[in-house]
Order: sequence, then structure tokens, then C-alpha cells
Amino acid sequence: MTKKYTHLFFDLDNTIWDFNSNSFDALYIALDKLQLLGVIGSYDTFFKIYSEVNERLWDLYRQGMMTKKVLSVQRFEESFEKNETPLNIGGEVVNDAYLAEMPLQTKLVEGARKVLDYLHGRYEVAIITNGFKEVQYDKIQKSDLSKYFRKIFISEEIGAQKPGRQIFEYAVKSMNAPKRSSLMIGDSWDVDIVGAMKFGIDQIYYNPKIEYAAWLGQFFSTNNQNLSDILTGTPHFFDQLQKYISKRSVSTAIISDLHQLIEIL
Ligand SMILES: [Mg+2]
Repeated sequence: MTKKYTHLFFDLDNTIWDFNSNSFDALYIALDKLQLLGVIGSYDTFFKIYSEVNERLWDLYRQGMMTKKVLSVQRFEESFEKNETPLNIGGEVVNDAYLAEMPLQTKLVEGARKVLDYLHGRYEVAIITNGFKEVQYDKIQKSDLSKYFRKIFISEEIGAQKPGRQIFEYAVKSMNAPKRSSLMIGDSWDVDIVGAMKFGIDQIYYNPKIEYAAWLGQFFSTNNQNLSDILTGTPHFFDQLQKYISKRSVSTAIISDLHQLIEIL
């Protein structure tokens, strides 16, 4: 049987590398080393504040409305401010300490290694990630992931970020991948899925929290009624999709467990 897909493009953070757990651990260690753990009160509360601040600022960074330098400093200064324990050192000191710990964390998303072992040798596999180059390579190396990927495309190096078309185009061309047999797998609807959809390759949306069990693992066209049934539960999904329905020739699948990849490929 010929395979429909030959080239698989994975997002890294929270699709393979467990960013949520690893950043929680890395920031804890960094704050401990800086003797700030005693200052902040509850670490869980602080981390929640930080995550929200970081996500909002990353959005601005992705849109080109904030530089990397400002993002790096402000995410910590603002978090400490919001936690009502303002920093008496610069945000860049915390950022440096955090980024030093980050790539040393090696937790993977459940099932990731097993799935990568299976795909290895059977498919051409690459990473497309938005992130800082100084940490993304180290994460992959320290987590013993290098062997699985023929190429690693990092937004900062390419000068373009997901969901923009350019990074997908660059990656697909560099891999000599036919678009019709390329597949993007990622956990971010707005960044990975809509980006790949607009570029014109099929996608698998990995969402471990999704509740639409009956639909999991099936491919849908964006003009398929069933997909709108699935996505109406989360209003902004469908609003986004409406824009691409007319020119679509790609399809989307949803999985809640990476192992489902092996079943549907
Ligand atoms: Mg991700």
C-alpha cells in the first residue's frame, strides 16, 4: 500500500517536548537558585500568573509588535508586579536563569518517544518550531531527540514564524516534500493548524483535552459539515475556519493521544 503521507512536520513544544511541565520545573529551579522562591509566596500561583503573561507577550512577539529582548525582560518583571512582589533585580537576570534551566528539562509529551520510534525510518520527519534558537536545539539534544529529525526549522533562524506561510514553505522546500504528501502535526490551533491549512497542507491537531471523542482520528475537509459540528464547541475555531473554506483542498484530523497517529497514518 502506498502511503498518503511521506513527510511529517512536527511542532516541538507541547507536541513532543512537554513544555508545560518542563517550564514549570525550570522556572522553579531558576527562582530557587536566585533565592526568589521565598519572596513569591505560592509558586503555583506565581507560575499561573507567569504563564498568562508569557502567552500574551508571545502573541505580541509573533505579531511583530514586541522584540525578543523586551519579551524576555517584561514577562518576568510583569509577573512579579502582578504577583505583588516586585523584582529588585532586572527581569533579564531571571530570564537568563530560566533559559539556562529550560533545555536541561527532558520530559516528553506522553507517547511521544514511542511514536517517534515508530515513525523513524518509515517517514521523513522534521520539526517546525517558533522559539529561540539558543534553547530549541539544546532541548532536542538533551532530550535525546536529534536522531528522529532530518531537519529542524526554527522561526528565529528562518526569520519567519508560524502561522505565517513563509516558514512552512521554507520547510517543505528544504525537505523536497510534495505538499500533497506532507502533514503538519501540532498542538496549537491558531499557530500550527491554521498556518498549515492556509499554506495548503493537511494537518493533525493534537489536543489531549478535546472532548469530541467520536470524531477523534478522522480526517475532515474544512468544507465538511462534520468539522463544523466538532468545532462549534469552541467559537473562535469556527470563525477562523470560515475564512478558508472556499479555497480549501486540505483536511484536518483531531487526536487526543499521540498514539493515534500510528493508527491513522
Ligand atoms: Mg506547541
